[in-house]
Amino acid sequence: MIRPIYAIINTNAVKNNFKIIKNIAYKSKIWTVLKADAYGHGIKNIFPIIKNDTDGFAVLTLDEAIILRENGYNKPILLLEGFFNKEELYLIYKYFLTITLHSKWQLNNLIKYKAKYPINIYIKINSGMNRLGFSVKNIMQIINIIKNKINICKITLMTHFSDASKNSNFIKKQINNIKKNIHNYYKFSCSFANSAAMLWHSSSHYNWIRTGIILYGASPTGIWQDIAKKNIKPVMTLKSKIISIQKISQGETIGYNCKYYTDKKHRIGIIACGYADGYPKNINNKTYVLVKGIKTLILGNISMDMIAIDLTNIPTARIGSSVELWGENIKIDDVAKSSGTIGYELMCSVSKRVPRILK
Ligand SMILES: *Cc1c(COP(=O)(O)O)cnc(C)c1O
Repeated sequence: MIRPIYAIINTNAVKNNFKIIKNIAYKSKIWTVLKADAYGHGIKNIFPIIKNDTDGFAVLTLDEAIILRENGYNKPILLLEGFFNKEELYLIYKYFLTITLHSKWQLNNLIKYKAKYPINIYIKINSGMNRLGFSVKNIMQIINIIKNKINICKITLMTHFSDASKNSNFIKKQINNIKKNIHNYYKFSCSFANSAAMLWHSSSHYNWIRTGIILYGASPTGIWQDIAKKNIKPVMTLKSKIISIQKISQGETIGYNCKYYTDKKHRIGIIACGYADGYPKNINNKTYVLVKGIKTLILGNISMDMIAIDLTNIPTARIGSSVELWGENIKIDDVAKSSGTIGYELMCSVSKRVPRILK
């Protein structure tokens, strides 16, 4: 038997979520973000589903961009952090990529490069995130250098928001910082909004939005309730099966370090999933899975390859019964919350040994 753990990728959910994005940001073009192997879903699984609908794909690495080109994608591809060393410029031109420029060292290298044709450039503005980008005060100067020294086709202004949740004031602060300091910024093409800004701040949409997490069906805030009414569908279902059942009496313990103590008789199911599959180890003691349509608790410590769950109240559960660890019913945001993280991290952490199955 093959070890029964799968990440099921729901094609219709991807299409559904893309439509929702399109309806909300109907005036903007859409960069669909495929970095980190499409947030753990598999770049080759996700890109064919929406390649005809999205206006372009945004990726982090040259490898990801080349996968898209080699699979026949010939619309725009944006490298979200541009290049990491100047040797990459050759391939950037070879594959017709759009690059982000966030630092002076990149600019200097690009100036020296003997380009054969004009390139599209995203200039990253540091409007308050203080991670990447040129200071708002220097942007006009950077633009002038680019216009004079580089063979460019089009310049787009780009920034990234630190907090674009519904009631955030910081996003307003960041946009105002741009408005105040970059005279006529709106005469350029602008790309500011991520998923959160797309959902909750329509005045930030401008020409191109960049959406990741909403396409995959989790909340940008890490709280499912924040998007529960938007008809967004979880794309990934992490599924396993029960491989062993234990009947244990009162006064025993379960798993490593005797973490769970039975105060009554229990029927326990052991499922084929552990932290080596990417399930978080540090969950709190109110973390659920779904068996036979019933939510039930995880008991004791997560092992590398196994998890114990309570079947006491699910008498119909058997060896081979299916278990949902997250997906349509158990929201990845809820599992993330009970382990002190966000859905983004859990998606990206599903390990290589878990096969992704397109549905
Ligand atoms: C990852 C990323 C995004 C997408 O963010 P989501 O919150 O997943 O929508 C947008 N812009 C940049 C620069 C990114 O790195």
